[in-house]
Amino acid sequence: MSIAKDHTCINHKDTQEETTPLLEYENGHLIGKHPLSTDVNLLRSAGHEEAPIAKIIRKKCLDCCVGQPSEIRYCVCTSCPLWPYRMGINPFISARCKKSLAQQNFTKAEG
Ligand code: SF4
Repeated sequence: MSIAKDHTCINHKDTQEETTPLLEYENGHLIGKHPLSTDVNLLRSAGHEEAPIAKIIRKKCLDCCVGQPSEIRYCVCTSCPLWPYRMGINPFISARCKKSLAQQNFTKAEG
């Protein structure tokens, strides 16, 4: 599912810049290059950084909320694919960690 399809991206104007090396033409249409076929130094020089994906999602949410961190917490757009990750954590991994810790503590208590 494309986020851009349902949520107009605030950075849409970037795609009008035809001179960036992060874009290319395909069948006469300006498109973004596939990240795996893009030199990482090029990504860095364009301001992109390597970070856990949930942290990157948080940055996008901050962009969506016009730089207001408190608005990310209050976001009611539960159908947004980023919604579960908007606090910069992956709740699915966190839930697995909690379950694992609970099992370890239970095992210790029994032993
Ligand atoms: S989860 Fe909310 S704040 Fe984050 S991108 Fe989606 S709509 Fe915006």
